[in-house]
Amino acid sequence: SRAALFDADNKVKITFNDVAGLEEAKEELQEIVDFLKTPKKYTELGGKIPKGALLVGPPGTGKTLLAKAVAGEASVPFFSLSGSDFVEMFVGVGAARVRDLFKQAKEKAPCIIFIDEIDAVGRSRGRGSMPGANDERENTLNSLLVEMDGFGSDAGIIILAATNRPDVLDSALMRPGRFDRQISVDAPDIIGREAIFKVHMKPLKLSNDIDIKKLAAQTPGFAGAEIANVCNEAALLAARRGKSAIDMQDFHDAIDREIGGLEKKNKLIS
Ligand code: ATP
Repeated sequence: SRAALFDADNKVKITFNDVAGLEEAKEELQEIVDFLKTPKKYTELGGKIPKGALLVGPPGTGKTLLAKAVAGEASVPFFSLSGSDFVEMFVGVGAARVRDLFKQAKEKAPCIIFIDEIDAVGRSRGRGSMPGANDERENTLNSLLVEMDGFGSDAGIIILAATNRPDVLDSALMRPGRFDRQISVDAPDIIGREAIFKVHMKPLKLSNDIDIKKLAAQTPGFAGAEIANVCNEAALLAARRGKSAIDMQDFHDAIDREIGGLEKKNKLIS
């Protein structure tokens, strides 16, 4: 028996309300929601609906969240796989997986296919990391290109892919009819961080001393993923301390921990 080939979620509950900030990205993605909901409006006038868009931005800024929100807003199934899953695959497996994915997506259309870390498969050909691994990666990339070209723009499948390295991508991926739209998903500024804190504080029991503006000012360089961690860590700390509400001290300690964690990560990388 084979393990699950990719994740499929038929009932996505995430919407644009769950994504803080990123207004421009949301606006551009709203168009894709419309394509999925009312394709005829566009095709009747002879227009071709785009097949794919590339979400470009640093780690943890909400690319996966946005892609899911598009599926949630349009009430369509969400299929996802990660480019890095292909790196260690045996010959032929990656290409077969891509074919299976598109076969299922066609049966469930309209739908979203999300490919995280597309740079792991989509590096320009002939530009490799591990010897030997390259041929398989190229096979996978080729099968992705073949599948993308193999369905019409009226098939109701839209492919969103995420990367923080658009510079290394094979230019074949960006040709018209493929990922010909790029949407930037930037790291949040202080206003953005405030908005992200608000989203992640919604389910928390907070003390009256909480000052979101201060917290946003104390977290430069934090992406949404880190802010989400901080909120959860603060809740756990407050619980451990036997408090009935989470206060600023818990948030400060959670921020310190997160900074410690980030520093460790950076040391490992450099
Ligand atoms: P990576 O490139 O590392 O896969 P990503 O850009 O896909 O990261 P997500 O996986 O979407 O980032 O973000 C991780 C988590 O961080 C989300 O599930 C969410 O909890 C939180 N998050 C990130 N950005 C935002 C945002 N703009 N608004 C609200 N929550 C956010």
